[in-house]
Amino acid sequence: VKENGKNDYLLYDSEMGPTALHKLTLQHEMRKALNNGEFLLYYQPKYDLGSGKVVGLEALVRWRHPVRGLVPPGEFIPAAEESGLIVPLGDWVLEEACRQNKAWHDEGMPRIPVSVNLSIRQFAQRDLTGKVADILKNTGLSPQYLELEVTESMTMDVERATRCLVELTNLGVNISVDDFGTGYSSFSYLKNLPISRLKIDRSFVRDIQQDPDDAAIVAAIIAMAHNLQLQVIAEGVETEEQVHFLRRHHCDEMQGYFGSPPLPVGDIRKMLNSAQQS
Ligand code: C2E
Ligand code: CA
Ligand code: CA
Ligand code: CA
Repeated sequence: VKENGKNDYLLYDSEMGPTALHKLTLQHEMRKALNNGEFLLYYQPKYDLGSGKVVGLEALVRWRHPVRGLVPPGEFIPAAEESGLIVPLGDWVLEEACRQNKAWHDEGMPRIPVSVNLSIRQFAQRDLTGKVADILKNTGLSPQYLELEVTESMTMDVERATRCLVELTNLGVNISVDDFGTGYSSFSYLKNLPISRLKIDRSFVRDIQQDPDDAAIVAAIIAMAHNLQLQVIAEGVETEEQVHFLRRHHCDEMQGYFGSPPLPVGDIRKMLNSAQQS
């Protein structure tokens, strides 16, 4: 018994017995967690490679589980996607990131955009634009300070994606393509979609130093992005050598443990405050 719509295969697939039960428990727990306010956001800074300044923050969800402690998204996002819970969870993330960023602005911190990851299920919602518009209105965040990270897989249906992204950019928000290079869509979509930035996937950045193929891919993505008038950011940057490589190839921005890991709100506030003074 395989996927036939709803959750039933979870119950009957004997091969997947324990996993299936685990999934149902997880989904039930997540629903409660959302009502109990157990989710929170960490923020990972993005740096300009020229100036070294923090030029953006990416919101990354965490689950403060009463028993298991802080659970990373890799352990619950797939189940949330599968059950559809990603939609209310994603709404919460979007609203919380906008609210927090607006609060930082009101505290007088440097105004930088926050980016939020969209899941394919959220992207498929009929009224995503309306939702984003409502959230911007309710939180008072100016749209230029919100960036949405979408993946290549969401642009497979080019016509639909174009319509959806045009609507979103008409609101004034920016779009970036996450995990760039790992999808299998044709590059032709890049010239038609209203996107402003490519994020080079960590898997290419990781071995820049050791693997000439990865170095060539990263250099090519940067050059192509610039030829298409797009900004480009490298994710998963962990070493100074990687930074040098990216600078040499005129990559615009970087994100990764070399700069900073994702941090809780209090640490970000400190970082932005001290950045303001220097
Ligand atoms: P992503 O969007 O590609 O986010 C980058 C992930 O790489 C983050 O993991 C981050 O902590 C990690 N990372 C950052 N710098 C480095 C580095 O230098 N080295 C290494 N090894 N890792 C680094 P995290 O926070 O565990 O998130 C994993 C994924 O979960 C994200 O990948 C994203 O796809 C998803 N995710 C996180 N938050 C949300 C959310 O609110 N909504 C949705 N739909 N997905 C989310
Ligand atoms: Ca991302
Ligand atoms: Ca990514
Ligand atoms: Ca990635």
